[in-house]
Amino acid sequence: METGKRSSLLPYGQQWLDEDDINAVVEVLRGDFITQGPAIKAFESKVAKYVGAMYAVAFTNGTAALHGACYAAGIGPGDEVITSPITFLASSNSVLYQGGTPVFADIDMRTYNISPEQIETKITDKTKAIIAVDLTGQPVEADRISMIARDHNLIFIQDAAHSLGASYNGHKVGGLADMTMFSFHPVKHVTTGEGGMIVTNNIEFYRKLLQFRNHGMTREPDELTQNDGPWYYEMQALGYNYRMTDMQAALGISQMDKLDYFVARRREIADIYNEELSNMEGLILPYQLEGTQSSWHLYVTRWEANYFDRSEVFQALRNENIGVNVHYIPVYNQPYYKQLPYSFEPCTHAENYYRTAITIPLFPKMTDDDVSSVIAAVKSVYRRYKGKK
Ligand SMILES: *Cc1c(COP(=O)(O)O)cnc(C)c1O
Repeated sequence: METGKRSSLLPYGQQWLDEDDINAVVEVLRGDFITQGPAIKAFESKVAKYVGAMYAVAFTNGTAALHGACYAAGIGPGDEVITSPITFLASSNSVLYQGGTPVFADIDMRTYNISPEQIETKITDKTKAIIAVDLTGQPVEADRISMIARDHNLIFIQDAAHSLGASYNGHKVGGLADMTMFSFHPVKHVTTGEGGMIVTNNIEFYRKLLQFRNHGMTREPDELTQNDGPWYYEMQALGYNYRMTDMQAALGISQMDKLDYFVARRREIADIYNEELSNMEGLILPYQLEGTQSSWHLYVTRWEANYFDRSEVFQALRNENIGVNVHYIPVYNQPYYKQLPYSFEPCTHAENYYRTAITIPLFPKMTDDDVSSVIAAVKSVYRRYKGKK
């Protein structure tokens, strides 16, 4: 069974580009528009159709898209937005960009996603929105969060950077929240290099997002306050230049053709891990909530503190050339967050999760031998370090 140490480092995630993808980009380079051409709309339509949403707006990256969502949601100084502490920095930074105040609600220790009960305990009369993150690709409990949002008049934004292609109660992630963000960073399910998108069924949000990504400008006749002629445009808000290029959108269109295969391969690898690493005392594997179908962006293992020293295990796996990682450090522990003029209550579950989590490699381009090498390394490290403190 033992395959010996890998000869090269296996990263935790990586893109998969083929000749079709390369040709799609080259075709744009040979054409008339390298930005603001027809590929952007085509990419937006393709993603919207796939996830079952009416509108989509592409952005330079997922972080800019989240910034746009906070703008469209009307977040401003004094407004509180509830989010998860176990996420990438961008989820709550987007609130700070708008002058709002992030509030962290603890996670559910089974799924590692934000807990609906904990969201409820954090609601005040200043709360304006919830940014829920589908950590690792497992959708959040969207029905319960939507209900909370409706009861308290909050806007529900889903950070679905990890969950393109995932489903919740039979519906694709993308039509569940008021606005849903996808990222096209190379480790995510499909890539455009850098890139992001918001999908929504709300035309008001859609219009605001379009303006925000283009300097706050509009040329839509029914949006203008006056009209000097066909050249006329108006800046109605302070927007940014957050536009994606046609080169990127063409790559995204080509990548979308492979999304179902990418997700299927990720699920296949996750199934093998679930099978091969089961029944190992002290090693906790991902739990899947009934009704959720993860798209498996990450495979997070947890090494219980009464059996393992996580740092030791992490280093041992790196020594085996397994590119393990930790997703994520509770955001409120970052130095920048610590010096903000307000303080954050520590989240017990998030802290416990952070102390024990290790992400092992999972991406569609992994070969069966790569998968076996991860399993062999995990088993060998498990045997060597269990019980050692
Ligand atoms: C990747 C990611 C983002 C940001 O996306 P970028 O495209 O890298 O800006 C936001 N939230 C989460 C949870 C992510 O993983």
